[in-house]
Amino acid sequence: MDLDLTCEQEALRSELRDWLAAHLPAEYGSGLPPRLADLSKAVELGRRWQAKLAEARWVAVTWPVEYGGRGLGAVEHFLVAEELARYRAPELVGRIGINLVGPTLLAHGSEEQRRRWMPPILSAEELWCQLFSEPDAGSDLASLSTRAEEVEGGFLVTGRKVWTSYAQFADWGLCLARTGPGSPRRHDGISALAVDMHAAGVQIHPLVQITGDAEFNEVILEEVFVPASNLIGTCGQGWAVASSTLAHERGTAFPFKEAVVHEGYLTSLYRQAQANGALEDPVVADALAQSYIELGLLRLENLRTLSRLERGEDPGPDSSRVKLIWTSMTQQLSDAALLVCGPGSGSSLSGTWQRQWLWSRAASIAGGTSEIQRDIIANRILGLPRH
Ligand SMILES: Cc1cc2nc3c(=O)[nH]c(=O)nc-3n(C[C@H](O)[C@H](O)[C@H](O)COP(=O)(O)OP(=O)(O)OC[C@H]3O[C@@H](n4cnc5c(N)ncnc54)[C@H](O)[C@@H]3O)c2cc1C
Repeated sequence: MDLDLTCEQEALRSELRDWLAAHLPAEYGSGLPPRLADLSKAVELGRRWQAKLAEARWVAVTWPVEYGGRGLGAVEHFLVAEELARYRAPELVGRIGINLVGPTLLAHGSEEQRRRWMPPILSAEELWCQLFSEPDAGSDLASLSTRAEEVEGGFLVTGRKVWTSYAQFADWGLCLARTGPGSPRRHDGISALAVDMHAAGVQIHPLVQITGDAEFNEVILEEVFVPASNLIGTCGQGWAVASSTLAHERGTAFPFKEAVVHEGYLTSLYRQAQANGALEDPVVADALAQSYIELGLLRLENLRTLSRLERGEDPGPDSSRVKLIWTSMTQQLSDAALLVCGPGSGSSLSGTWQRQWLWSRAASIAGGTSEIQRDIIANRILGLPRH
Protein backbone atom coordinates (compact mmCIF):
# COMPACT_ATOMS: atom_id res chain seq x y z
CA MET A 1 0.00 0.00 0.00
CA ASP A 2 1.01 3.64 -0.41
CA LEU A 3 2.09 4.81 3.04
CA ASP A 4 1.92 8.54 2.26
CA LEU A 5 -1.12 10.46 3.45
CA THR A 6 -3.24 12.17 0.80
CA CYS A 7 -3.82 15.96 0.97
CA GLU A 8 -7.31 15.29 2.36
CA GLN A 9 -5.93 13.02 5.07
CA GLU A 10 -3.28 15.60 6.02
CA ALA A 11 -6.04 18.24 6.19
CA LEU A 12 -8.13 15.99 8.43
CA ARG A 13 -5.18 15.55 10.78
CA SER A 14 -4.56 19.33 10.97
CA GLU A 15 -8.27 19.92 11.62
CA LEU A 16 -8.16 17.42 14.51
CA ARG A 17 -4.96 18.93 15.93
CA ASP A 18 -6.57 22.41 15.89
CA TRP A 19 -9.69 21.04 17.53
CA LEU A 20 -7.68 19.28 20.24
CA ALA A 21 -5.60 22.39 20.89
CA ALA A 22 -8.84 24.27 21.55
CA HIS A 23 -10.79 21.61 23.48
CA LEU A 24 -8.46 19.21 25.29
CA PRO A 25 -8.60 19.73 29.08
CA ALA A 26 -5.38 21.35 30.36
CA GLU A 27 -4.25 18.34 32.42
CA TYR A 28 -3.97 16.21 29.25
CA GLY A 29 -1.78 16.90 26.20
CA SER A 30 1.67 15.81 27.39
CA GLY A 31 3.46 13.32 29.63
CA LEU A 32 1.70 10.16 30.80
CA PRO A 33 -2.12 10.36 30.83
CA PRO A 34 -3.44 11.28 34.31
CA ARG A 35 -5.74 8.79 36.06
CA LEU A 36 -8.60 9.45 38.44
CA ALA A 37 -8.54 7.15 41.47
CA ASP A 38 -12.36 6.94 41.60
CA LEU A 39 -13.60 4.83 38.67
CA SER A 40 -17.14 6.28 38.64
CA LYS A 41 -15.72 9.82 38.47
CA ALA A 42 -13.42 8.73 35.64
CA VAL A 43 -16.45 7.31 33.78
CA GLU A 44 -18.39 10.56 34.32
CA LEU A 45 -15.50 12.62 32.97
CA GLY A 46 -15.13 10.13 30.10
CA ARG A 47 -18.80 10.54 29.17
CA ARG A 48 -18.50 14.32 29.02
CA TRP A 49 -15.31 14.14 26.95
CA GLN A 50 -16.75 11.62 24.49
CA ALA A 51 -19.93 13.68 24.08
CA LYS A 52 -17.79 16.68 23.16
CA LEU A 53 -15.73 14.63 20.70
CA ALA A 54 -18.88 13.13 19.16
CA GLU A 55 -20.46 16.55 18.73
CA ALA A 56 -17.46 17.53 16.62
CA ARG A 57 -17.78 14.13 14.83
CA TRP A 58 -14.40 12.77 15.88
CA VAL A 59 -15.77 9.46 17.18
CA ALA A 60 -16.01 6.42 14.83
CA VAL A 61 -15.26 8.38 11.67
CA THR A 62 -15.65 5.22 9.52
CA TRP A 63 -19.29 4.72 10.46
CA PRO A 64 -21.71 5.70 7.71
CA VAL A 65 -22.96 9.30 7.86
CA GLU A 66 -26.56 8.16 8.51
CA TYR A 67 -25.47 6.59 11.82
CA GLY A 68 -23.42 9.58 12.95
CA GLY A 69 -20.01 8.80 11.43
CA ARG A 70 -18.19 10.56 8.59
CA GLY A 71 -18.17 7.60 6.18
CA LEU A 72 -14.35 7.72 5.99
CA GLY A 73 -11.92 4.84 5.40
CA ALA A 74 -9.59 2.77 7.58
CA VAL A 75 -6.61 5.14 7.14
CA GLU A 76 -8.63 8.07 8.53
CA HIS A 77 -9.89 5.87 11.37
CA PHE A 78 -6.36 5.01 12.47
CA LEU A 79 -5.13 8.52 11.88
CA VAL A 80 -7.74 9.85 14.34
CA ALA A 81 -7.02 7.08 16.89
CA GLU A 82 -3.27 7.82 16.71
CA GLU A 83 -3.72 11.56 16.98
CA LEU A 84 -5.99 11.30 20.03
CA ALA A 85 -3.41 9.02 21.67
CA ARG A 86 -0.53 11.33 20.69
CA TYR A 87 -2.30 14.22 22.47
CA ARG A 88 -2.83 11.94 25.50
CA ALA A 89 -6.59 12.54 25.22
CA PRO A 90 -8.74 10.58 27.70
CA GLU A 91 -9.58 7.08 26.49
CA LEU A 92 -13.05 6.70 24.97
CA VAL A 93 -15.28 5.53 27.81
CA GLY A 94 -17.71 4.00 25.33
CA ARG A 95 -14.99 1.96 23.61
CA ILE A 96 -16.84 -1.37 23.91
CA GLY A 97 -19.78 0.16 22.05
CA ILE A 98 -17.60 1.91 19.49
CA ASN A 99 -15.02 -0.79 18.82
CA LEU A 100 -17.13 -3.93 19.26
CA VAL A 101 -20.88 -3.29 19.21
CA GLY A 102 -21.00 -0.70 16.39
CA PRO A 103 -19.04 -2.86 13.88
CA THR A 104 -21.12 -5.89 14.95
CA LEU A 105 -24.37 -3.99 14.31
CA LEU A 106 -23.07 -2.82 10.93
CA ALA A 107 -22.32 -6.44 10.00
CA HIS A 108 -25.33 -8.21 11.52
CA GLY A 109 -27.87 -5.69 12.90
CA SER A 110 -31.12 -4.59 11.28
CA GLU A 111 -31.61 -1.07 9.96
CA GLU A 112 -33.88 -0.29 12.92
CA GLN A 113 -31.28 -1.56 15.42
CA ARG A 114 -28.49 0.51 13.86
CA ARG A 115 -30.60 3.67 13.95
CA ARG A 116 -31.68 3.00 17.54
CA TRP A 117 -28.32 2.07 19.09
CA MET A 118 -25.47 3.56 17.07
CA PRO A 119 -25.98 7.33 17.65
CA PRO A 120 -26.11 7.08 21.51
CA ILE A 121 -23.01 4.83 21.41
CA LEU A 122 -21.13 7.67 19.70
CA SER A 123 -22.10 10.30 22.26
CA ALA A 124 -21.64 7.93 25.27
CA GLU A 125 -25.25 8.66 26.17
CA GLU A 126 -25.55 4.87 26.32
CA LEU A 127 -22.66 2.62 27.35
CA TRP A 128 -22.42 -1.08 26.41
CA CYS A 129 -20.77 -4.09 27.95
CA GLN A 130 -19.89 -7.48 26.48
CA LEU A 131 -21.75 -10.37 28.14
CA PHE A 132 -19.80 -13.27 26.61
CA SER A 133 -17.63 -15.01 29.26
CA GLU A 134 -19.12 -17.28 31.92
CA PRO A 135 -17.55 -19.12 34.86
CA ASP A 136 -17.32 -22.29 32.71
CA ALA A 137 -17.00 -20.68 29.31
CA GLY A 138 -14.05 -18.39 28.64
CA SER A 139 -11.59 -19.77 26.11
CA ASP A 140 -14.16 -22.37 25.20
CA LEU A 141 -16.89 -19.81 24.65
CA ALA A 142 -19.10 -22.25 22.72
CA SER A 143 -19.70 -24.18 25.95
CA LEU A 144 -21.70 -21.25 27.36
CA SER A 145 -24.82 -22.23 29.28
CA THR A 146 -26.83 -19.00 29.66
CA ARG A 147 -30.25 -19.80 28.24
CA ALA A 148 -32.70 -17.61 26.32
CA GLU A 149 -36.08 -19.28 26.41
CA GLU A 150 -38.51 -18.15 23.70
CA VAL A 151 -41.69 -16.63 25.17
CA GLU A 152 -44.41 -14.44 23.69
CA GLY A 153 -42.81 -11.31 22.23
CA GLY A 154 -39.22 -12.24 23.08
CA PHE A 155 -36.94 -14.28 25.33
CA LEU A 156 -36.40 -14.90 29.03
CA VAL A 157 -32.65 -14.92 29.68
CA THR A 158 -31.18 -16.77 32.65
CA GLY A 159 -27.51 -17.37 33.40
CA ARG A 160 -24.30 -16.13 34.94
CA LYS A 161 -21.71 -14.00 33.16
CA VAL A 162 -18.32 -13.01 34.52
CA TRP A 163 -15.40 -10.61 33.87
CA THR A 164 -17.88 -8.18 32.30
CA SER A 165 -15.91 -4.95 31.98
CA TYR A 166 -17.77 -1.76 32.92
CA ALA A 167 -21.11 -3.61 33.41
CA GLN A 168 -21.82 -1.42 36.46
CA PHE A 169 -21.92 1.64 34.18
CA ALA A 170 -23.52 -0.01 31.14
CA ASP A 171 -26.99 0.60 29.76
CA TRP A 172 -26.86 -2.35 27.34
CA GLY A 173 -25.10 -5.69 27.20
CA LEU A 174 -24.27 -7.64 24.04
CA CYS A 175 -25.14 -11.10 25.35
CA LEU A 176 -24.56 -14.58 23.97
CA ALA A 177 -27.18 -17.10 25.09
CA ARG A 178 -28.33 -20.54 24.03
CA THR A 179 -31.70 -20.42 22.22
CA GLY A 180 -31.60 -23.80 20.53
CA PRO A 181 -31.68 -27.33 21.90
CA GLY A 182 -28.37 -29.14 22.51
CA SER A 183 -26.74 -29.93 19.19
CA PRO A 184 -23.61 -31.95 18.34
CA ARG A 185 -22.14 -28.74 16.92
CA ARG A 186 -21.93 -26.61 20.06
CA HIS A 187 -21.62 -23.40 18.02
CA ASP A 188 -25.16 -23.93 16.74
CA GLY A 189 -28.12 -22.71 18.76
CA ILE A 190 -26.36 -19.67 20.23
CA SER A 191 -27.99 -16.27 19.71
CA ALA A 192 -26.80 -12.68 20.21
CA LEU A 193 -29.16 -10.44 22.19
CA ALA A 194 -29.04 -6.84 23.38
CA VAL A 195 -29.92 -6.96 27.08
CA ASP A 196 -31.16 -3.84 28.87
CA MET A 197 -28.82 -3.67 31.89
CA HIS A 198 -31.48 -1.75 33.86
CA ALA A 199 -34.16 -4.46 33.32
CA ALA A 200 -35.69 -6.46 36.18
CA GLY A 201 -33.63 -9.59 36.94
CA VAL A 202 -30.18 -8.11 36.18
CA GLN A 203 -27.78 -8.16 39.16
CA ILE A 204 -24.28 -6.70 38.90
CA HIS A 205 -21.50 -7.49 41.38
CA PRO A 206 -18.19 -5.64 40.87
CA LEU A 207 -14.97 -7.72 41.16
CA VAL A 208 -11.77 -6.07 42.41
CA GLN A 209 -8.67 -6.68 40.27
CA ILE A 210 -5.02 -6.64 41.41
CA THR A 211 -4.83 -3.00 40.31
CA GLY A 212 -7.33 -2.22 43.10
CA ASP A 213 -9.97 -1.09 40.58
CA ALA A 214 -13.22 -2.98 40.05
CA GLU A 215 -13.42 -2.59 36.28
CA PHE A 216 -15.07 -5.91 35.71
CA ASN A 217 -18.08 -7.65 37.25
CA GLU A 218 -20.09 -10.76 37.74
CA VAL A 219 -23.52 -10.35 36.11
CA ILE A 220 -26.43 -12.59 37.15
CA LEU A 221 -29.38 -12.75 34.78
CA GLU A 222 -32.60 -14.15 36.23
CA GLU A 223 -35.45 -14.48 33.74
CA VAL A 224 -34.60 -11.14 32.18
CA PHE A 225 -37.16 -10.31 29.48
CA VAL A 226 -35.52 -9.38 26.16
CA PRO A 227 -37.91 -8.32 23.36
CA ALA A 228 -37.59 -10.21 20.05
CA SER A 229 -36.60 -6.91 18.39
CA ASN A 230 -33.33 -7.06 20.41
CA LEU A 231 -32.15 -10.25 18.68
CA ILE A 232 -29.06 -9.35 16.62
CA GLY A 233 -28.66 -11.47 13.48
CA THR A 234 -30.51 -14.74 12.99
CA CYS A 235 -31.83 -16.79 15.91
CA GLY A 236 -29.41 -19.65 16.58
CA GLN A 237 -26.68 -18.13 14.38
CA GLY A 238 -25.10 -15.97 17.08
CA TRP A 239 -21.70 -17.61 16.66
CA ALA A 240 -21.20 -15.66 13.43
CA VAL A 241 -22.11 -12.46 15.30
CA ALA A 242 -19.68 -13.31 18.14
CA SER A 243 -16.86 -14.09 15.68
CA SER A 244 -17.04 -10.66 14.10
CA THR A 245 -17.16 -9.00 17.56
CA LEU A 246 -14.04 -10.93 18.66
CA ALA A 247 -12.09 -10.16 15.48
CA HIS A 248 -12.67 -6.44 16.05
CA GLU A 249 -11.75 -6.80 19.74
CA ARG A 250 -8.36 -8.30 18.88
CA GLY A 251 -7.03 -6.41 15.97
CA THR A 252 -8.31 -3.10 14.61
CA ALA A 253 -8.24 0.36 16.22
CA PHE A 254 -6.99 -0.70 19.65
CA PRO A 255 -3.44 -1.72 18.61
CA PHE A 256 -2.99 1.59 16.75
CA LYS A 257 -3.82 3.63 19.80
CA GLU A 258 -1.71 1.33 21.96
CA ALA A 259 1.36 1.75 19.73
CA VAL A 260 1.25 5.51 20.30
CA VAL A 261 0.50 5.21 24.03
CA HIS A 262 3.45 2.82 24.46
CA GLU A 263 5.73 5.15 22.48
CA GLY A 264 4.95 7.67 25.24
CA TYR A 265 5.64 5.08 27.94
CA LEU A 266 8.95 4.07 26.36
CA THR A 267 10.14 7.66 25.93
CA SER A 268 9.28 8.43 29.54
CA LEU A 269 11.03 5.27 30.75
CA TYR A 270 14.12 5.97 28.64
CA ARG A 271 14.39 9.50 30.08
CA GLN A 272 14.00 8.14 33.59
CA ALA A 273 16.72 5.53 32.93
CA GLN A 274 19.03 8.26 31.65
CA ALA A 275 18.30 10.47 34.65
CA ASN A 276 18.77 7.83 37.37
CA GLY A 277 21.78 6.15 35.74
CA ALA A 278 19.92 2.85 35.13
CA LEU A 279 20.75 3.08 31.42
CA GLU A 280 24.41 2.36 32.25
CA ASP A 281 23.36 -1.17 33.16
CA PRO A 282 23.46 -3.32 29.98
CA VAL A 283 20.53 -5.43 31.23
CA VAL A 284 18.35 -2.30 31.43
CA ALA A 285 19.62 -1.01 28.08
CA ASP A 286 18.82 -4.42 26.51
CA ALA A 287 15.31 -4.43 27.99
CA LEU A 288 14.60 -0.95 26.60
CA ALA A 289 16.02 -1.91 23.19
CA GLN A 290 13.81 -5.01 23.18
CA SER A 291 10.77 -2.83 23.92
CA TYR A 292 11.73 -0.53 21.06
CA ILE A 293 11.95 -3.51 18.67
CA GLU A 294 8.63 -4.99 19.81
CA LEU A 295 6.95 -1.62 19.43
CA GLY A 296 8.34 -1.46 15.88
CA LEU A 297 6.88 -4.91 15.20
CA LEU A 298 3.46 -3.80 16.42
CA ARG A 299 3.61 -0.77 14.13
CA LEU A 300 4.41 -3.00 11.15
CA GLU A 301 1.57 -5.36 12.05
CA ASN A 302 -0.74 -2.36 12.26
CA LEU A 303 0.21 -1.38 8.72
CA ARG A 304 -0.55 -4.92 7.61
CA THR A 305 -4.01 -4.66 9.23
CA LEU A 306 -4.53 -1.34 7.48
CA SER A 307 -3.65 -2.86 4.09
CA ARG A 308 -6.17 -5.66 4.65
CA LEU A 309 -8.92 -3.24 5.64
CA GLU A 310 -8.11 -0.95 2.72
CA ARG A 311 -8.54 -3.95 0.41
CA GLY A 312 -12.00 -4.44 1.92
CA GLU A 313 -11.01 -7.61 3.83
CA ASP A 314 -11.97 -8.43 7.41
CA PRO A 315 -9.29 -8.51 10.12
CA GLY A 316 -9.87 -12.31 10.28
CA PRO A 317 -7.45 -14.66 12.11
CA ASP A 318 -4.57 -12.20 11.56
CA SER A 319 -6.01 -10.23 14.46
CA SER A 320 -4.76 -13.06 16.73
CA ARG A 321 -1.18 -12.37 15.63
CA VAL A 322 -1.59 -8.64 16.32
CA LYS A 323 -2.98 -9.41 19.76
CA LEU A 324 -0.02 -11.68 20.60
CA ILE A 325 2.50 -9.05 19.50
CA TRP A 326 0.73 -6.34 21.52
CA THR A 327 0.63 -8.63 24.59
CA SER A 328 4.32 -9.42 24.44
CA MET A 329 5.21 -5.76 23.85
CA THR A 330 3.15 -4.35 26.74
CA GLN A 331 4.32 -7.03 29.20
CA GLN A 332 7.96 -6.67 28.14
CA LEU A 333 7.83 -2.87 28.49
CA SER A 334 6.15 -3.13 31.88
CA ASP A 335 8.88 -5.53 33.03
CA ALA A 336 11.48 -3.00 31.83
CA ALA A 337 9.78 -0.42 34.09
CA LEU A 338 10.49 -2.73 37.04
CA LEU A 339 14.21 -2.52 36.22
CA VAL A 340 14.23 1.24 35.60
CA CYS A 341 12.13 2.52 38.48
CA GLY A 342 11.09 -0.50 40.54
CA PRO A 343 12.99 -2.88 42.81
CA GLY A 344 15.65 -3.27 40.07
CA SER A 345 16.63 0.38 40.62
CA GLY A 346 16.62 0.10 44.42
CA SER A 347 13.23 1.84 44.88
CA SER A 348 9.68 0.50 44.69
CA LEU A 349 7.30 0.78 41.76
CA SER A 350 4.43 3.19 42.36
CA GLY A 351 1.79 5.32 40.65
CA THR A 352 1.34 4.97 36.90
CA TRP A 353 4.09 2.36 36.50
CA GLN A 354 2.79 0.20 39.29
CA ARG A 355 -0.68 0.19 37.79
CA GLN A 356 0.70 -0.37 34.29
CA TRP A 357 2.72 -3.41 35.42
CA LEU A 358 -0.21 -4.91 37.30
CA TRP A 359 -2.63 -4.26 34.41
CA SER A 360 -0.21 -5.72 31.86
CA ARG A 361 -0.74 -9.18 33.45
CA ALA A 362 -4.31 -9.11 32.09
CA ALA A 363 -3.10 -8.56 28.51
CA SER A 364 -2.45 -12.27 27.95
CA ILE A 365 -5.99 -13.14 29.17
CA ALA A 366 -8.44 -10.39 28.10
CA GLY A 367 -9.96 -10.72 24.61
CA GLY A 368 -8.81 -14.37 24.44
CA THR A 369 -5.68 -15.83 26.07
CA SER A 370 -2.30 -16.09 24.33
CA GLU A 371 -2.62 -19.89 24.15
CA ILE A 372 -5.90 -19.51 22.27
CA GLN A 373 -4.40 -16.96 19.86
CA ARG A 374 -1.59 -19.46 19.13
CA ASP A 375 -4.18 -22.19 18.50
CA ILE A 376 -6.00 -19.89 16.03
CA ILE A 377 -2.73 -19.07 14.23
CA ALA A 378 -1.79 -22.76 14.09
CA ASN A 379 -5.15 -23.87 12.72
CA ARG A 380 -6.38 -21.01 10.62
CA ILE A 381 -3.21 -19.32 9.35
CA LEU A 382 -0.64 -22.13 9.26
CA GLY A 383 -3.20 -24.84 8.48
CA LEU A 384 -1.74 -27.24 11.08
CA PRO A 385 -3.86 -30.20 12.19
CA ARG A 386 -6.00 -29.66 15.31
CA HIS A 387 -4.35 -32.49 17.24
C1 LIG B 1 -9.17 -7.35 32.02
C2 LIG B 1 -10.17 -8.32 31.48
C3 LIG B 1 -11.36 -7.84 30.96
C4 LIG B 1 -12.32 -8.72 30.46
N1 LIG B 1 -13.50 -8.21 29.99
C5 LIG B 1 -14.44 -9.07 29.52
C6 LIG B 1 -15.71 -8.55 29.09
O1 LIG B 1 -15.98 -7.34 29.12
N2 LIG B 1 -16.63 -9.42 28.63
C7 LIG B 1 -16.40 -10.77 28.58
O2 LIG B 1 -17.27 -11.49 28.11
N3 LIG B 1 -15.22 -11.29 29.01
C8 LIG B 1 -14.24 -10.47 29.47
N4 LIG B 1 -13.04 -10.98 29.93
C9 LIG B 1 -12.87 -12.44 29.98
C10 LIG B 1 -11.87 -13.02 29.00
O3 LIG B 1 -12.37 -13.04 27.70
C11 LIG B 1 -11.56 -14.45 29.51
O4 LIG B 1 -10.90 -14.31 30.75
C12 LIG B 1 -10.69 -15.23 28.56
O5 LIG B 1 -11.38 -15.54 27.39
C13 LIG B 1 -10.18 -16.53 29.21
O6 LIG B 1 -11.21 -17.28 29.75
P1 LIG B 1 -11.17 -17.81 31.25
O7 LIG B 1 -10.81 -16.67 32.14
O8 LIG B 1 -12.45 -18.52 31.50
O9 LIG B 1 -9.95 -18.84 31.29
P2 LIG B 1 -9.97 -20.36 30.83
O10 LIG B 1 -10.62 -20.47 29.51
O11 LIG B 1 -10.53 -21.18 31.93
O12 LIG B 1 -8.43 -20.67 30.66
C14 LIG B 1 -7.57 -20.98 31.75
C15 LIG B 1 -6.18 -21.29 31.19
O13 LIG B 1 -6.24 -22.45 30.34
C16 LIG B 1 -5.71 -22.14 29.05
N5 LIG B 1 -6.47 -22.85 28.00
C17 LIG B 1 -7.82 -22.97 27.93
N6 LIG B 1 -8.16 -23.64 26.80
C18 LIG B 1 -7.01 -23.95 26.16
C19 LIG B 1 -6.70 -24.65 24.95
N7 LIG B 1 -7.66 -25.12 24.15
N8 LIG B 1 -5.40 -24.77 24.58
C20 LIG B 1 -4.41 -24.27 25.38
N9 LIG B 1 -4.64 -23.62 26.55
C21 LIG B 1 -5.92 -23.45 26.93
C22 LIG B 1 -5.88 -20.65 28.90
O14 LIG B 1 -4.96 -20.12 27.97
C23 LIG B 1 -5.62 -20.16 30.34
O15 LIG B 1 -4.23 -20.05 30.56
C24 LIG B 1 -12.06 -10.13 30.46
C25 LIG B 1 -10.86 -10.61 30.98
C26 LIG B 1 -9.93 -9.73 31.50
C27 LIG B 1 -8.65 -10.28 32.05
